[in-house]
Amino acid sequence: MQCDMCGKEESSLLKTLVEGTEMNLCRDCSKYGEVRGVVKEEVPEKKKKEAVEEPEEEVVEVISEEFSSKLKNKRESMGMKQEEFAKSINEKESVVHKWETGEMTPNIGKARELEKKLKLKIVEEIVEKHERNAPGKAEAVTIGDIIKVRKKN
Ligand SMILES: [Zn+2]
Repeated sequence: MQCDMCGKEESSLLKTLVEGTEMNLCRDCSKYGEVRGVVKEEVPEKKKKEAVEEPEEEVVEVISEEFSSKLKNKRESMGMKQEEFAKSINEKESVVHKWETGEMTPNIGKARELEKKLKLKIVEEIVEKHERNAPGKAEAVTIGDIIKVRKKN
């Protein structure tokens, strides 16, 4: 960067107030004004990784298809009735009932909680690839995928 007054090339200049105007000056010129601070040459930020033209991969978390049976088996192995079991995981009995019958599935956050509490593997991660140049392919969803997507909520 150059001194605003004499044009000398410096890697750092002094921000100097000269007759009410802020200027970036070299050390020599700065004595003509009131130094306010140092101005350093801006180091260009590391260039951001350019968007790679690769298929985008997205990890989708879904509830295991065996969630209902896993939950039920777990409860039975603990020798608990739905009511008792529900209390132990701070849930309503009706919710546990719906989970076990497959009427309902927990959301991912709840499922993670259950995983911890029950030491069960409930959440599965599915890698979805989005191929940018082949939109047709990305739309090819199998029935299995549709079911998994629906079960998400
Ligand atoms: Zn200067």
